Amino acid sequence: MDKKKRTPGIGTLCVQAGYKPGKGEPRQIPIIQSTTFKYETSDQMGRLFDLEDSGYFYTRLQNPTNDHVAAQIAELEGGVAAMLTSSGQAANLFACLNICSAGDHLVSTGNIYGGTFNLLGTTLPKMGIEVTFISPDASEEEISAAFKPNTKLLFGETLSNPGVEMLDIEKFARIAHSHGVPFIIDNTFATPVLCRPFEFGADIVTHSTTKYMDGHGVAVGGALVDSGNFDWEAHTEKYPGLCAPDPSYHGLIYTKAFGKLAFITKATSQLMRDLGSIQSPQNAFYLHLGLQSLHVRIARHSESAMKVAEYLENHPDVAWVKYPGLKNDPHHELAKKYMSAFSGVMCVGLKGGRDFDNRFMDSLKLITIETHVADCHSCILHPASHTHRQLTDEQLRAAGIAPDLMRLSIGLEDPEDIIYDIEQALAAAHCHSERSEES
Ligand SMILES: *Cc1c(COP(=O)(O)O)cnc(C)c1O
Repeated sequence: MDKKKRTPGIGTLCVQAGYKPGKGEPRQIPIIQSTTFKYETSDQMGRLFDLEDSGYFYTRLQNPTNDHVAAQIAELEGGVAAMLTSSGQAANLFACLNICSAGDHLVSTGNIYGGTFNLLGTTLPKMGIEVTFISPDASEEEISAAFKPNTKLLFGETLSNPGVEMLDIEKFARIAHSHGVPFIIDNTFATPVLCRPFEFGADIVTHSTTKYMDGHGVAVGGALVDSGNFDWEAHTEKYPGLCAPDPSYHGLIYTKAFGKLAFITKATSQLMRDLGSIQSPQNAFYLHLGLQSLHVRIARHSESAMKVAEYLENHPDVAWVKYPGLKNDPHHELAKKYMSAFSGVMCVGLKGGRDFDNRFMDSLKLITIETHVADCHSCILHPASHTHRQLTDEQLRAAGIAPDLMRLSIGLEDPEDIIYDIEQALAAAHCHSERSEES
């Protein structure tokens, strides 16, 4: 027997990290469905508001159920602390606002999730925070050229939504650090089971827990995780929010008072206090159920997606398939370097044109048309007909979305049934076209 203490594997962390019940306590995490918490003396309550004691007082700031799940996600990512938010959008907003204020600038890859693209490109500029989008495949010199003296962070996605392009995490961490800013990465599509970005130099991770972490299409949610590695105090003038006194807490300095926990403590005690985007304890409970089987599910998602991608790649009706697991995929080597499997989302373009695409989607029986990805149900979305329908083909291409692109999310059904469904829908789309040509 090896006497050295064994580091638990990711599957064990999925099942057991975070919540450690004591004698006679519930085995599953309790749902603390309470807005508030009681104290014995006025002084006890006062100390909480001065951040001198830690404790629960109001669920908008912290709740024990949420904290169990946040602690689990922090462990899964190998970070020092995490917080849950009401959505993935709120997680990305908080990640930016915890660092930037009016007059600041940030750099982001342009191939990110549409909601995040709007948040960074439309809403943050209204708040006085400017953004420069860069191509994830640009050279280090080109990306560096986007940095300005007031640039405060670099942002990207591990595996982009919808394009499933693998980011070169080490390259991005290197660029961010050479400019003295943290690298924030949205790890939604990979999950910490497939990739732990802190191991490759990322500083802060965000999640839409709505996707694989929940995994059943039950609850919208998000998470913000800090590695504790970025040295804010090496750049005190750049990060006054973390390194200068906070007048709303009697001049407390987060980095001095909380060390490696400064980032998440500030996000909780300042942003959550003022912007109130807490996840409900009930949703945190659902999220936790999802996390407990994440490692088993994501393995199956990945395995089935590989089979479907290989099937599509060889189908005569298919013009192209984008899936990082395919050997010919331009991001295959990077994906192999950073991920242990290739996740369950792919993009596909058919040869038949827009009407054929629509007949194909309408003929699917098991795969459903949904504005969602990354849960147990297989689903499909055609951005040009659905989420991005206001755009012309030219505008779509400018946004990096091919007009024929369909995003296919492979669920947990039997892969043979998923393939059969695609097969019959392609055949049906042909039948309909022959019928309309005859008439
Ligand atoms: C869905 C998604 C988001 C937004 O999350 P919500 O939970 O829908 O607010 C952010 N980033 C990525 C990569 C996503 O897929």
